[in-house]
Amino acid sequence: MDLNTITEVVRRPSGHPGADWREGDAWLAGGTWLYSAEQPHLRRLIDLTALPWERLVPGDAGLEIGATCTIRDLYAFTPPPDWIAGGLIRAACEAFLSSFKVWNAATVGGNICMSLPAGPMITLTVALEARYELWAPDGSVRTVDALDFVTGNNRNVLAPGEILRRIDIPAHALAKRHAHRRFTLTHLGRSTVFLIGTHTPGTSNLLLTITAGTTRPVRLAFDTMPDATTLQQSIDVIPGDVWFADPNGTPDHRRHLTRHFAEEIRRELNAGGPA
Ligand SMILES: Cc1cc2nc3c(=O)[nH]c(=O)nc-3n(C[C@H](O)[C@H](O)[C@H](O)COP(=O)(O)OP(=O)(O)OC[C@H]3O[C@@H](n4cnc5c(N)ncnc54)[C@H](O)[C@@H]3O)c2cc1C
Repeated sequence: MDLNTITEVVRRPSGHPGADWREGDAWLAGGTWLYSAEQPHLRRLIDLTALPWERLVPGDAGLEIGATCTIRDLYAFTPPPDWIAGGLIRAACEAFLSSFKVWNAATVGGNICMSLPAGPMITLTVALEARYELWAPDGSVRTVDALDFVTGNNRNVLAPGEILRRIDIPAHALAKRHAHRRFTLTHLGRSTVFLIGTHTPGTSNLLLTITAGTTRPVRLAFDTMPDATTLQQSIDVIPGDVWFADPNGTPDHRRHLTRHFAEEIRRELNAGGPA
């Protein structure tokens, strides 16, 4: 769509990209959402994709994902064999409802910063215990737990002019066993619920991440594998206003699916099922 209020596009920002931030600015990543809706409040786009940020840096500490890494490039990444949770990367990319054009242009950072309940990069990075590095216009840097970044439907902790620069996934999370479940109303549709469970080999812990059915990610942590009743009770105490309502499902439907799939995940990981 033509954005006819835009008077300037900064194609190659120099120095710190936020230093010159002003009202009416927006960061431009893949543009798949920015160009899909009217943006009457915007005057200037600052293109982040021209910045020389490394897309994917695997190392002993884990995986660093540059915010401008595309979904396509993340999907093409082959994790080392000992990162058994690496399979979740592809599963999360496949959960992205997208055309060929969106798939090739959309970025991991853009997906997270859109902060939609069905943002699969949010699901992935919360489940894998990531931290996000944020850059403020004054040059200061802070890191936040992925779990705390999204605060509601299309809402997050970013201050005006702040950039999501990088996503750091720790190696210990990538070495976990995992199981996931996802429901869509239609084939290739947007997620109604998307749940991921992870479990450290040699322990009996469980981390259950609940997304898409909720307006913000919810993560339930258990030091020892809960029984079915304890797990259901933990889901039942999620506040009613956290469950999301849209044409893909009512809050009640989403809570019901979450209870059902959470139990499947618990059983699968408890039984030492597929990693
Ligand atoms: C057909 C179609 C299907 C879609 N399906 C889905 C879906 O299943 N799930 C889903 O979550 N979304 C979906 N979207 C919405 C959107 O396309 C995606 O969320 C996409 O990942 C956004 O990434 P982008 O790089 O294109 O972001 P952009 O459109 O460039 O930016 C999105 C927003 O994030 C801000 N932003 C981008 N990067 C940064 C950064 N590094 N730091 C700070 N702010 C930043 C931008 O200023 C803008 O406000 C869909 C869109 C379309 C058109």
